[in-house]
Amino acid sequence: MRRPLVAGNWKMNLDRSGAVGLARRVAERARQINGADLVVCPPSVYLEAVGQALAGSPVGLGAQNMYFERAGAFTGEISAAMLVDLGCRYVILGHSERRQLLGESSDLVSRKARAALAAGLTAIICVGELLEEREAGRTRQVIQEQVTGSLAGMDGAQASQIVLAYEPVWAIGTGRVATGAQAEEVHRDLRNLLEERYNADVAASVRIQYGGSVKPENAAELLAQPNIDGALVGGASLKADDFLAIAAAAA
Ligand code: PEP
Repeated sequence: MRRPLVAGNWKMNLDRSGAVGLARRVAERARQINGADLVVCPPSVYLEAVGQALAGSPVGLGAQNMYFERAGAFTGEISAAMLVDLGCRYVILGHSERRQLLGESSDLVSRKARAALAAGLTAIICVGELLEEREAGRTRQVIQEQVTGSLAGMDGAQASQIVLAYEPVWAIGTGRVATGAQAEEVHRDLRNLLEERYNADVAASVRIQYGGSVKPENAAELLAQPNIDGALVGGASLKADDFLAIAAAAA
């Protein structure tokens, strides 16, 4: 049985007191949610403060990015060990905003993912097609390329430690959400890909989240799909009530 994982990607939002307040509101009520793991991913400068606000709660702390090198002359970057030092257990990698706005390639994502795993972090690796790719019937091919590239160099034991997030780019922050059937089709493909590339055990154990305008109103339909194991939530994770309602639907 895969335990659903619901992660909030706060992106570049909130200030320190807003981040701490939101973390406290989520932490206070998180114990009411049994049957799903909860994670929040604040901006990196607030990781420590948010980690303190979550102390003693079941909510995990995650980062939105990291670099693959251990240490050295990499101005502006943050290592996996630094994230662990701050109490992080998760890191989002290859988010479409980073792929598109910052030119992150799947090769870079794979290096980051292996470094994250080596440091004991769970890497949440995002993949997803653009609207024009979907309309051209290229969704399966794009997803396959991104998964193959992002998991390059990983053996089965490593792959079984990751989380995949299917996030159709056309659904992120747009209010346009994939239907349960559209999402399930891709999630099934992703699981088949894991089985082809590794084996049935790896395919059965990897959690695959859906992300893209998940809200309390559409969460139940998406999360009821057999191959959808939780959600990566952007906008709705900035409201404790909405985030917790999505988590309750997952549980
Ligand atoms: C995301 O940023 O990963 C995301 C899914 O955003 P939103 O929920 O706002 O579409």
